Amino acid sequence: MLGFDCLGGSCEDTCCRDWTLEVDRDGMERIRGRLGPDEAAALRVLEAEQARDLGKDDIYGYIDRRADGTCPFLDRDRLCSLVIRFGPKVLSRACAVFPRAFASFPDRVEIHGSLACPEVARRCLLDPAALDLVPAPGAPSAPAHAGRRFESGGAWAHYLFDVRRSIVDLLRRRDFPLAARLALAAELAAQIEPVYHRDTTAFDGAGRQAAEKQLAAALATSGDAAYLAPLCADFCALQVPGEQTIAVVANVLIARRQLPHTAAYARLLADVFASYQEEALGRPASSADSVPAAALWAVYRGRRGRLQDRFGDAPERIFANYGAHFFMRWPYLDSPTVMHHLCKLGIRLAVIRFLFAGHPATLAALEEPHPGPAMALLEGAAVAVVQTFAKAVQHHPNFERILDGSLDQEGGASFGRAVCLAKLC
Ligand code: SF4
Repeated sequence: MLGFDCLGGSCEDTCCRDWTLEVDRDGMERIRGRLGPDEAAALRVLEAEQARDLGKDDIYGYIDRRADGTCPFLDRDRLCSLVIRFGPKVLSRACAVFPRAFASFPDRVEIHGSLACPEVARRCLLDPAALDLVPAPGAPSAPAHAGRRFESGGAWAHYLFDVRRSIVDLLRRRDFPLAARLALAAELAAQIEPVYHRDTTAFDGAGRQAAEKQLAAALATSGDAAYLAPLCADFCALQVPGEQTIAVVANVLIARRQLPHTAAYARLLADVFASYQEEALGRPASSADSVPAAALWAVYRGRRGRLQDRFGDAPERIFANYGAHFFMRWPYLDSPTVMHHLCKLGIRLAVIRFLFAGHPATLAALEEPHPGPAMALLEGAAVAVVQTFAKAVQHHPNFERILDGSLDQEGGASFGRAVCLAKLC
C-alpha cells in the first residue's frame, strides 16, 4: 500500500458508489458542522438502529445514497466535494481509511488493501511484489477503532506469523499447479491441527516442547520440494467429480443475488451464466433454460484447459496472489482451525475462478490473436471479477454468511472438502 495512489475521477468503479457509506458519530458531527443549514438538513442518514440490522454496531449510521447509488457528495467530476471544499480531515473514519485496512497485533500494525478498490485489486493481482510485507517507517498508525485488533491469544496467536508465512509461501510457489498448492496447504493444515488450533492447550506446561517440535517439523517440510512433489503427483492423479462443487458455487452466487446488490454484480452474473448456458446448450439461452451441474462442470473444465493452453500459468499466478492476499488480509485467528480458514479461501477462489472463466473479457482474450492485447483482456477480466466479488462481499455482511454457510453442507471444513474445492481452483 506504500505506493498506492487513488485514481480519483478516472477510477472505473469509484468507492463512492454502490457502497454502504458508513459514518461514525464524530465524522457526522464534523460534516454537519461544515455544511450550510440547508445542506445539513438535506443530508439523509440511515441511523444506528437500521445500521445495526446490517451487522455493525460501532457506527453512527449510513449516508443515504442518490437513486443512482452514488454518494450525495460525489461531484460531476467523480471527486469528493467534501474533500474539495473542506480538506480530507473532514471525512468520516471509513472514507478516510478506505481502501487501507489495518490489522493491529500486540507487536505490530499491518496495513493491507481492500480488493473492493480496482486499483488495489490490480496491484495485488498483477504486481508480483505487491504482496511482500515490508516495514513502513513513518506510515500512518491505525486510527482508533479502525480495522481489526488481535490481542495476544496464547499459542494460536503466537505462531500466527510463522504458520501464515508457510501457507503464503506454499500458495505462491510456481513449481506446482495452483490447485495442488491449495491441497498441499490443506495437507499442512491437517498435519498441524492435532496440536495447533484455536482452543489448543498442547503448548501449555510440559507438552510445550513436543508441540513446538511437531509444529516446526510440519512447517519445515511444507517448504521441501522433495517432500511435496509426490503429494502433488497424488493430488493431480486424483479424480474428483466437480459437479457437486460447481453446484455449490452457482447456488452461492444466485443466493447473493437475492440480497440487495449492485448493477455491476447483476451484470457480471447475467453475462457469466449466459456464457456457460450458451456453450452447454449450443444455442442462445433463455431465462427458462436451466443447465445441469454436470454440463456446467464440463464447460468450466473445457475453458480451464483452453486458458492453460493459451496463457500457460498466467491465470494461476494472478489467483495465487488472491489466495496469498486472503491469508495476509484476513489472519485466520477468528477461524477454529487453519483448515477451516483454508476452506473459506477455497470457496472464494472457486467462485472467482468460475466467474473468471465465464467473463466476456476472458472469452474475448481466448479469441484475440495478438498476445499483448489478449493478456490485457485476461488481466482486466481477473481484476473486474475480483473487485466486483470483493465489493459484493463487503457490501452485505450476509454474503459472508452464505459463503461460509456453504462449507457446513456436506461435512464442513475438512481435508476432503479442501481437496474438492482445490480441484475447482
Ligand atoms: S475505488 Fe480506489 S481508486 Fe477508485 S476512487 Fe475509491 S480509493 Fe480511489
